[in-house]
Amino acid sequence: MPRRRDPDAPPVVHRTCRVGVRTTRGQRERCYGLLCSAGDIWACVVEVNHWRWRHDAPPVVGYQQLCRELAAAGPGTFGELDSTGARSVLRRYADAWFAAAKRRKGGDPLARFPRRRRRLLPVRYYHGTFTLQQRRRRLPTAQGCPPLWLRLDRDIPYPAGQIRSVTLLNEGGRLWVEVTAEVPVATYPPGTAPDPGRVAGVDLGIIHPYAVAGPDGHGLLVSGRAIRAEHRMHLADTKQRRRATAARAPKPGQRGSRRWRKTRRRARLVEGRHRRRVRQAQHEAAKTVVAWAVEQHVGTLTVGDPRGVLDLAAGRRHNLRVRQWQIGRAIAMLRDKAELAGIVVHLVDERGTSSTCPACRRPVTKPAGRRMSCRSCHLTGHRDLFAAATIATRTPQDAGRGDAIAAVLPSMVTHRRAGRHLPGAGPSRRDPRRRLPHQPPPAATVTGRTTTAAGGSVGRLRPAPPIVVGSRSTAHRGEEPQHHQPGERSWSQH
Ligand SMILES: [Zn+2]
Repeated sequence: MPRRRDPDAPPVVHRTCRVGVRTTRGQRERCYGLLCSAGDIWACVVEVNHWRWRHDAPPVVGYQQLCRELAAAGPGTFGELDSTGARSVLRRYADAWFAAAKRRKGGDPLARFPRRRRRLLPVRYYHGTFTLQQRRRRLPTAQGCPPLWLRLDRDIPYPAGQIRSVTLLNEGGRLWVEVTAEVPVATYPPGTAPDPGRVAGVDLGIIHPYAVAGPDGHGLLVSGRAIRAEHRMHLADTKQRRRATAARAPKPGQRGSRRWRKTRRRARLVEGRHRRRVRQAQHEAAKTVVAWAVEQHVGTLTVGDPRGVLDLAAGRRHNLRVRQWQIGRAIAMLRDKAELAGIVVHLVDERGTSSTCPACRRPVTKPAGRRMSCRSCHLTGHRDLFAAATIATRTPQDAGRGDAIAAVLPSMVTHRRAGRHLPGAGPSRRDPRRRLPHQPPPAATVTGRTTTAAGGSVGRLRPAPPIVVGSRSTAHRGEEPQHHQPGERSWSQH
């Protein structure tokens, strides 16, 4: 039975944070045991319904029905998992089933009912079944099992009274706890609240995740350079690691070695770290926009939704860029944070906004680079900010107010960066994955020992490449000295 809130209570939103778990080996085993038991329950339900389908019996999908089946299974069937955790899996199954049924009814033939078994599944505990003490958390376990206390790796950012549920899950080879809280929508002292009449247009992009044009000629540009650099470095890093470890990969049908398992684990961890870094930077970018809007008393954000143009194939490289952009997530993050701050978000079509002059509304042919200049009225400025100004004019109007919003060109622009914590974002923090520019090797020591890595370098210094006399090839030979030994004849096309 869902909890009923008082209709006069102040508005709230639900927000979830993810916190890492510090475990001993025994606790880790027990946590994975819980997740594994949850996977077993899911598999049981899938099996039962498959059996019933083969025998022309109606499926068991209602939450209440499933709970009755679980009770009939008796205690101790699913290891240490208690009935609260087990029921959260049944709830998940029932929700997935009914969501698929609804989509099918709506005419979507691609909607599938849940039928795939999983080894591990998240387990959720609702308010009142768990205990939270500072950074410690007790999970309920089945009768007769000792309680499971877990240590969290940071403080939960919500007050204890607002927490509604905790979820134990596994992602990227690590255990996490997701804490969901009921957070009240921000309230402001009189006169400082965001005014819904003040509108800012938001243009989403890859180079600038958010470009905002507000009223009174104020603008905000959030740079996404650090995020793009992180994507690039991760791609280069992954490619290099694959090349280096490809020889260890097991042949088809061969059992992987322990060393190969370690390689896979390392790849998973690096992948997870990359995803977390990018997500953190995206959150920071969205937070910057909402904080700026609150400061400017902007109560309405009109966001240009570019998702209509994403289905066009634009070549291998651009497709990758677009996929890494994660536009749906950028919109969702902005909307969530704006909702919490009491700001309304409208999504409008952004077609043509980045190639239309905001002053005279004439199309601008192919603006190259970030600057846009209009041939008719000779207006020149930042393309993304101009697009944001045009988007602001597309704000849906109330039926009573027919007045269209005039484009306000930003003249005072605030510049911010997303992902300042990322390595390589500033000159002081060098990304360890990036190779240093070539430096001359230090003079060899008197004892004749081989030179080792200098401080801050990425690896052992290689011997200087041999000087080839008489070669007419202009190809750079410094990179891979092993390909060209002194005295060896090299083939060149010249
Ligand atoms: Zn113009």
